Amino acid sequence: MSKPFDLYDITIIGAGPVGLFAAFYAAGMRGMRTKILEALGVTGGQLTVLYPEKYIYDVPGFPKILAKDLAKQLEVQAMAYKPTLILDEKVVDLKRLDGGIWELQTVKGVHFSKTVLITAGHGAFTPRKLGNPSVERFENMGVYYSVTDKWMFKDKKVMIVGGGDSAVDWALNLKDIAAEVILVHRRGEFRAHEGSVIELFHSPVKIMIPYEVKEAYGKDRLEAVKIFNNKTNEEVVLEVDALILQLGHLVDVSLFKGWGLEMEGNAIKVNGRMETNLPGVYAAGDIAHQTDSVKLALLATGFGQAAIAVNVAKNYIDPKASLFPGHSSEKRM
Ligand SMILES: Cc1cc2nc3c(=O)[nH]c(=O)nc-3n(C[C@H](O)[C@H](O)[C@H](O)COP(=O)(O)OP(=O)(O)OC[C@H]3O[C@@H](n4cnc5c(N)ncnc54)[C@H](O)[C@@H]3O)c2cc1C
Repeated sequence: MSKPFDLYDITIIGAGPVGLFAAFYAAGMRGMRTKILEALGVTGGQLTVLYPEKYIYDVPGFPKILAKDLAKQLEVQAMAYKPTLILDEKVVDLKRLDGGIWELQTVKGVHFSKTVLITAGHGAFTPRKLGNPSVERFENMGVYYSVTDKWMFKDKKVMIVGGGDSAVDWALNLKDIAAEVILVHRRGEFRAHEGSVIELFHSPVKIMIPYEVKEAYGKDRLEAVKIFNNKTNEEVVLEVDALILQLGHLVDVSLFKGWGLEMEGNAIKVNGRMETNLPGVYAAGDIAHQTDSVKLALLATGFGQAAIAVNVAKNYIDPKASLFPGHSSEKRM
């Protein structure tokens, strides 16, 4: 918990890629006293939680980089300038105090800041569940909603459920590590990237379509799963060591509406300076919708927005400070 009135220049909500880059920019490029508050126990946001083992090809300067490696590099870049990074602390409220100071209420305490940059992606990650108590009883005992270490499935029989990119990518990723991979999807077609689906049908992954999970069995941990064909009602019980549910994530941005922020759908409305309707509060990355622009939920656009937001925030707290920070190549970093 932070001390009362330990005032920061900028507090960044969310240590995803955009928040980490913003922290580098604020602490490293602008010398701002910087704090990052992250709801999860890890940094990297979607890179770490949703697709750590996928290659990214459209980050400038990296022809190809694994998402987890990019997340690590962003963390190293940010932490070189010693911002205060606080994990496992979800921000739940934001209030303006007398004198224009912002009070951020988290699940553990309060923090104070002259400016706030919201880089919260799609809000807190809440995996979509099956709503089946026989499955939920084995959560973390064979049932998982994300994969942070693929090697835990080495030589295991793994069932993956879902039809989107995450499900198909994990099936392909684990096929050479696991003893067997079974992909269960309730529809006849996959929503995943066409190239991945072609690879899937040429791989040893056992594809069960159109099947759905009916029941999970086991003593202390998951041992088997019953699935059924939703056209014929035929049931099959398959022995598995792990069930990985890739059913997407629930987007909950209601929190931000409660803070008095103007929204555009599920995103926070910002202008070209990344300013929200609240003075000294900015947004960048997936959570931001820039009016009069095109919404592209991409790393490259998020990084650019982070740089704009930080420079504008610097100028907000010190109007004499130039908006343009100069080039990093000309600085003694
Ligand atoms: C499968 C997949 C593949 C992708 N591939 C690419 C690609 O190839 N190229 C590309 O450019 N983009 C890609 N993207 C998109 C890219 O990952 C996102 O644009 C990027 O992660 C957005 O970064 P962000 O920091 O804005 O948000 P996020 O990565 O979502 O991070 C937000 C962080 O904020 C935290 N947070 C949320 N609410 C709170 C709160 N109240 N308090 C504290 N912390 C909070 C979250 O826990 C999270 O850590 C892909 C996305 C997916 C899902």
